[in-house]
Amino acid sequence: MSHEHALNKPVRVKCLGIGAGPANLSLASLLHGDPAVPNLFLDAKPSFSWHDGQMLPDAKLQVSHVKDLVTLVDPTSPFSFMNYLADQGRIYHFLNAQFESLPRQEYRNYLEWAAARNENVVYGETVGAVDFDGTDFVVETDRRTVIAENVVVGVGSRPWVPLMARDRLDGTTQLHISEFMTRAHSLAGLDVAVVGGGQSGAEAFLDLVSRPSGQLPGRISWITRRSNYLPIDDSPFTNEFFTPGYSDYFADLALPARQDFIFRHLLASDGISGETARAIYQALYLQRFVNGAEHLTTGLYPNREVVGMTAQPPGGWDLEVRHNIETGAVEHIEADVVIWATGMVTGTMDFLAPLAGRLERESDEYVVDHDFAVRWDGPSDRGVFLQNAVRRQRGLADPNLSLNAWRSRRIADRITGTHTREPLDSFLRWSAKAG
Ligand SMILES: Cc1cc2nc3c(=O)[nH]c(=O)nc-3n(C[C@H](O)[C@H](O)[C@H](O)COP(=O)(O)OP(=O)(O)OC[C@H]3O[C@@H](n4cnc5c(N)ncnc54)[C@H](O)[C@@H]3O)c2cc1C
Repeated sequence: MSHEHALNKPVRVKCLGIGAGPANLSLASLLHGDPAVPNLFLDAKPSFSWHDGQMLPDAKLQVSHVKDLVTLVDPTSPFSFMNYLADQGRIYHFLNAQFESLPRQEYRNYLEWAAARNENVVYGETVGAVDFDGTDFVVETDRRTVIAENVVVGVGSRPWVPLMARDRLDGTTQLHISEFMTRAHSLAGLDVAVVGGGQSGAEAFLDLVSRPSGQLPGRISWITRRSNYLPIDDSPFTNEFFTPGYSDYFADLALPARQDFIFRHLLASDGISGETARAIYQALYLQRFVNGAEHLTTGLYPNREVVGMTAQPPGGWDLEVRHNIETGAVEHIEADVVIWATGMVTGTMDFLAPLAGRLERESDEYVVDHDFAVRWDGPSDRGVFLQNAVRRQRGLADPNLSLNAWRSRRIADRITGTHTREPLDSFLRWSAKAG
């Protein structure tokens, strides 16, 4: 259906996607061209973007490019990364470039290409409410009403900062890392504090420390709660956590076991990539021993938590920083600009309010079944599915790109009443219950 057509006529679909980031773009790609499943995916953004505020020039994808929108469940799909390269006429160039990790910008461009060639993906339309009329879902957008047999929510995440910073984000002296590309360019000579020791904080620190003279900040402090600037664990057995079989195993564990797992294995997804860590260490080495950039001072503060913050007239901030293991040790770090690289949390789903009483919850998460459909009291052939919104039920892979295609396949199977063969069992026998 054309965009014009979509906006002028009331539409009835079998699958309505809310949000068109990589999660729902994967489902849109798998459903594309299937006349049995009329579908529409709406995204509030005026046009495609993908974490553009963090598209730092050297940023890399933290997973294999094989983990694209479709390949792991349908390698023959025209929406694969390989087809994107072929379509652009540069499949040989890509091979010869021998990227160790794909540039994040290239993955973004691929996603944009996949969205643009799918007429069922519409940007610039916000979903405001989802209700159920006894037969179908009634979805109100800022432009029209859509009738849908199934709704797939893929609204992703939103920035998170500690309470003390929440009403102080002015985009100039306090900003979240998601605004880095638009807000963090003119920092020459200023004292900058980066808070957060994950990949995003590391990328910000590396960018700042690598700026040419004349654009370098005066001082860069990097503070993390973690005991060190710890790496992501990308080893083979850890990657088993990001497989369909493990996702299903995890979902059946008791809540305390699931919570404990996420806490203990956070670095499987949230650590710093080896490439970035090396680049930072080398930049520090060059700065201190080779290039003699005396005008830049850096301070690396692992094992510290920012516990307070006061404004420093005429501008800037005093950060009160507590050491995690040296009891009672408190330091003060001054900064003209504070960059919070403190992560993201699940996006808001206020549009589900009309259904809220009918959808099952486990604290702040909706409870999903085997097929990622929220458990509810409505008919079983109608469902609200969740993509990337149930980390506590599905583990560390849920917000990650690794299982995007598989999760979408499972949702598509449920909607179409088909069953795709699952991959073979793991080498690891996770459960004592397995036969
Ligand atoms: C900087 C960054 C880099 C990352 N890199 C990697 C990586 O290398 N590997 C990896 O595995 N993971 C990575 N991730 C994690 C994850 O893969 C991404 O966050 C990914 O974008 C999640 O996809 P999504 O579709 O769930 O959400 P999003 O990409 O956030 O998309 C959600 C969409 O929903 C739309 N939306 C929200 N509300 C509404 C509404 N009411 N109506 C209509 N539309 C709405 C939004 O406009 C948005 O476009 C990264 C995350 C970040 C922040």
